[in-house]
Amino acid sequence: MGREISIRKVGFYIRVSTDRQAKEMEGSLVSQQQRLEAEVARKNLSSGGAKWGEVARVYIEEGRSGKDTNRPEYQKMMRDVQLGVVNTVMVTELSRLSRSVSDFLKFMEVLSDHQGDFICPQYDFDTTNAAGRVFVIILMALSQFERELTGERTRNNFHARALRGLCNGGSPIIGYDTDPLNKAKRVVNETEAAVVRKVFALYLESGSIQAATDGMNARGARTKSYVTRAGGPRGGLLFVTNSVHGILSNVSYLGKREVNKANKGKTSEALRESERYQVVDATWPAIVEPEIFERVQRKLAENRELVKYDQWKVYPFIFSKLIRCLECGAELRTTSAHGKNAKYSYYRHVGICPAGIGLVHADKLEAVVLRRFKELDLTPQLLDAVVRGQHRAVAGRVPDLELERSGCESELRQLDEKIEALVDRIASLPKDVDAEVLIRKMREMQAKKPRLSDNIVRLTAELESVSREKLNPEEVRWAIRHVHGHMNELSPPLKRELIRRLITRIEFGRKVMKVSLDPQGFVALNAVGSPGSQGEKKLAPPCFGGSPVCLLSKLG
Ligand SMILES: [Zn+2]
Repeated sequence: MGREISIRKVGFYIRVSTDRQAKEMEGSLVSQQQRLEAEVARKNLSSGGAKWGEVARVYIEEGRSGKDTNRPEYQKMMRDVQLGVVNTVMVTELSRLSRSVSDFLKFMEVLSDHQGDFICPQYDFDTTNAAGRVFVIILMALSQFERELTGERTRNNFHARALRGLCNGGSPIIGYDTDPLNKAKRVVNETEAAVVRKVFALYLESGSIQAATDGMNARGARTKSYVTRAGGPRGGLLFVTNSVHGILSNVSYLGKREVNKANKGKTSEALRESERYQVVDATWPAIVEPEIFERVQRKLAENRELVKYDQWKVYPFIFSKLIRCLECGAELRTTSAHGKNAKYSYYRHVGICPAGIGLVHADKLEAVVLRRFKELDLTPQLLDAVVRGQHRAVAGRVPDLELERSGCESELRQLDEKIEALVDRIASLPKDVDAEVLIRKMREMQAKKPRLSDNIVRLTAELESVSREKLNPEEVRWAIRHVHGHMNELSPPLKRELIRRLITRIEFGRKVMKVSLDPQGFVALNAVGSPGSQGEKKLAPPCFGGSPVCLLSKLG
């Protein structure tokens, strides 16, 4: 048979990324195909009689970018390579096939796995030798580099235009039309400008985006209607809260332009100068008064605060179930009331108070208590009282523990005595009497011993740790500072959790408020993160024993 060279099955891969490119002469679909056909003809002529190859398939990709391989025709071509329908892929330029080095390397791998070849007349190389492969890789790297440079140039140009207050494409906004003389500029559309002003007015009037949205729709107003560059109609729809919010917060209506809006709120130190957020004068006139715009921004900010509160669904009453009336001992229960603009939260006196205590503002009460908390640090007497109270509480536990331990010890002693007596009896039994029953009884007694000795060990350890639990004033000072210093960073539920570990009771009177602290809370808190602690202990459950220390606050 001899050496048989089969005729190559050639696949053309032709790609244009935009419609405009498809119609242009150079690089168009037709031109790419003609150049590839000419190349095949040239190779057939110069192959010395035998036919070099023939076109098996033509893959035409329209309107797809080469940035990835998510292209239907490309995928079809790769399948055909694997099936052997095509064994030589031809493109006019490398960039038609891929703009990514790694995608190209994957392509080459599949191709060589199936003994395929790749031909690109642009460079006239042969992929069957190593030099050709290296060359391709370098070219791909260079083209990627060039693409990055182009991207940077485009970005710089974008930035420069933005700083000059020009538009960089994007959808048109209601109130303005694109300047027919300069696409980067806007001119006022008076009819729409009136709609925009109405949106601002309705929002200021109602304080509600939903109300403003409904109001606009009821008046028959619709979103900006326009035609995209591709010719598709857009907009002209009912307003939704999102579109209204977008209008209310758009500085374009002040004749301003935001630069690098995506970086708004980021610290400028971390960003390059060209990446920083800023607001510059736009090339178009304002259609909303600055004063009105400012008032709307304030209202939007206030509403955001309310929304934040709402996330907790209910006000996180820090002191629920802890408050009593100092005058009559009745409970104060949590309650909420809807005011004009907000929801108010109170602690409400149960029943009628002879001293006239009724509603207490929850946030004000909480603020007073937290302030008092901080002062604790500054008052040696109070600090002293906290420490002494804790010492008393600790000392109070010692007798109980000691009693329990001596109980275990005496039980153990008695057991030993009984076992000894049993042993004696078993030894003195007549030989014909079965000792089985006595031996079983002795074993039962022996089995009780480990539990008792374990208890004694545990109680001894506990007694030792109790004496270590005694606070020193420095620790208490640290705990208070720690709690207060971090209070503002905590979420309301966590704040509540922490405070409730430290306060056992609040008595609200006409002139004074008494706050009872649970000294055990300080021990638990210190265990969490004080310097020198193990850091493993979890917060102990609130302990209501011990001797509470009272903080008195003058009210009003
Ligand atoms: Zn009362």
